[in-house]
Amino acid sequence: MNFEKLTLRSVTARPVLVPLRRPIVSKVGLFDQWPMILIELATEQGIVGRSYLEPYLKHAARYIVPAIHDLADQRKGRAIHPIEDYQNGRRALNLIGYEGVSMIAVSGLDMAAWDALAKAAGMPLAVLLGGSTGPVPAYNSNGLWLTEVAGLADDARALVAEGGFNALKLRLGRDKLADDLAAIEAVRSAAGADIKLMVDFNQGLSLGDALHRCHALDRHGLYWFEEPIIYDNLAGYAQLTSELTTPVQLGENFFGPRALHQALSMGAGDYVMPDLMRADPILAAPFELKDGFLMIPNRPGAGVEWDEDAVRRYQYDG
Ligand SMILES: [Mg+2]
Repeated sequence: MNFEKLTLRSVTARPVLVPLRRPIVSKVGLFDQWPMILIELATEQGIVGRSYLEPYLKHAARYIVPAIHDLADQRKGRAIHPIEDYQNGRRALNLIGYEGVSMIAVSGLDMAAWDALAKAAGMPLAVLLGGSTGPVPAYNSNGLWLTEVAGLADDARALVAEGGFNALKLRLGRDKLADDLAAIEAVRSAAGADIKLMVDFNQGLSLGDALHRCHALDRHGLYWFEEPIIYDNLAGYAQLTSELTTPVQLGENFFGPRALHQALSMGAGDYVMPDLMRADPILAAPFELKDGFLMIPNRPGAGVEWDEDAVRRYQYDG
């Protein structure tokens, strides 16, 4: 197909609320259901691009979905050019701000447009972008929340078994340092001393507390410290990064590439992370997991499809 001519016909955005097998207990909140917005971008050529957003807050769909439709209305009947569309979409926000709801809407359409383009080209999106399909090392973060230390060993064993994982993510930031240390010990003794252990504070500490806590944990062989403090305190992150031996991870809550560039140019972290979240009950073909590796599927597009029966079951009005 000549994908130069791929034109946008219509966009749908459906909110669903997915039950979680293990409730999220973290510094950013307690969740036993997970909202997602499923986007379908239909083209005049019959190809449908798909993407999904995870807005954390159930009612956020009330303002993200209309923003998606507003943007899509301006592009109806036009050729799909994701890079230009993204730049124009972002530029159109300069009077209401580049972050938050509006940027989430721009990004949702951007991902769906790339999926459509890769399908039109008959290539996996990873290949279209110059990469390859195949195994990618993964860690399991679907548990080990800020729950009772006594339950963490069972959690850790179950998480390893879900895909032969050799890397897990543990949430830290309990009131006492001793409890964080006990949590680390519980996971290591259950999952094996060789387990790679990332720890995430979910922005829960003040800078002073983070300096104290992370220095105390710095010699414990942890793989990274994730978001010890509020996400936009870049000067604080730069201080943590320069003082600590353990790599500092951030970026999960940045909006767009400029924020990442700014953080990196300030030395605000050792690693930056894109978001890859959980969606098993909805995805028709969850990516395969083997020996701790996620298999990027070798099929056209981004590889995301969903199960319409499950979508109907979990759909809500926002
Ligand atoms: Mg995180």
